[in-house]
Amino acid sequence: MRKMSSMSNQKRVLITGGAGFIGSHLCDRFINEGYRVVAIDNLITGNLENIAHLFPLEEFEFYNHDVSKFVHVPGNIDYILHFASPASPIDYLQMPIQTLKVGSLGTHNLLGLARVKNARVLIASTSEVYGDPLVHPQSEEYWGNVNPIGPRGVYDEAKRFQEAMTMAYHTYHGLETRIVRIFNTYGPRMRVNDGRVLPAFFSQAIRGEGLTVFGDGNQTRSFCYVDDLVEGIYRLLLSDYQLPVNMGNPAEITILEFADEILKLVNNPKAHIIYKPLPIDDPKQRKPDITRANEILGWQPKVNRHEGLKKTYEYFKEVVSVD
Ligand code: UDP
Repeated sequence: MRKMSSMSNQKRVLITGGAGFIGSHLCDRFINEGYRVVAIDNLITGNLENIAHLFPLEEFEFYNHDVSKFVHVPGNIDYILHFASPASPIDYLQMPIQTLKVGSLGTHNLLGLARVKNARVLIASTSEVYGDPLVHPQSEEYWGNVNPIGPRGVYDEAKRFQEAMTMAYHTYHGLETRIVRIFNTYGPRMRVNDGRVLPAFFSQAIRGEGLTVFGDGNQTRSFCYVDDLVEGIYRLLLSDYQLPVNMGNPAEITILEFADEILKLVNNPKAHIIYKPLPIDDPKQRKPDITRANEILGWQPKVNRHEGLKKTYEYFKEVVSVD
């Protein structure tokens, strides 16, 4: 249901990575809240299908642009949400330089734009700033355990730089900034071939193939449904809190258990589990401490994994080709 606003008091929000998984859900949310939305994406991992339904709307604009290059947007902007980046480990293996550039140069460009427009900026950081964490669960006070020169370093270090740059703009220029550290998130519009565990397992289960469990499958992750994340981001943007805030679902599970859950849900007798080598620097455990988000924003996830996986399965049934 879309809220009605008169043209004059309608706020305008810029969302980079607007054609991506999380970015497109943010576009929907802000349109539904009565904002005007400008989405930017260079479509290297984003997909116009994710926002095709918004194109007919007068409140929605789209620019195909790489925000690592100078960003110009005509007119006023009230809020900027920087969500552009390759976001899965195989994406950053294939596009290491773009990943570094969008997190660093891209962030710099958007902070500069925010100053000119007098806009508030929210940047998408990540649980990857904690690297392969030696503290469990991870709270915002933990400084992390990142290998700067490993395959994941291009993402992790760009995001760490992004946080440092954002805090510097806040401290030195008085810019209004927000930082969300996003843990593993899932839901409709994840790219089928992005290599992440959930799209991999769903597409393998639907096709009746082996579910590729990396290592012994005892590594853990904690999966948050995208609607919960979007709610948290919306609240954080409108809050007055400047320091990083973790957002994720603390329900932790091993990857092997996760494979079992998807096997049961899809119920394809041909699907089974196979084992592949563990990627380099794959974090052994990950679980957000969300005390801060809860205290400051009154936020906590509402969608449990059973419910979230069922909704996500509906999407993958539509988009996974079986031949
Ligand atoms: N993983 C797996 N099989 C796959 C893809 C991933 O077992 O086909 C594992 C991966 O090694 C990691 C976890 O699942 O331990 C989550 O991986 P993902 O790439 O989804 O995200 P990450 O949390 O590592 O960034």
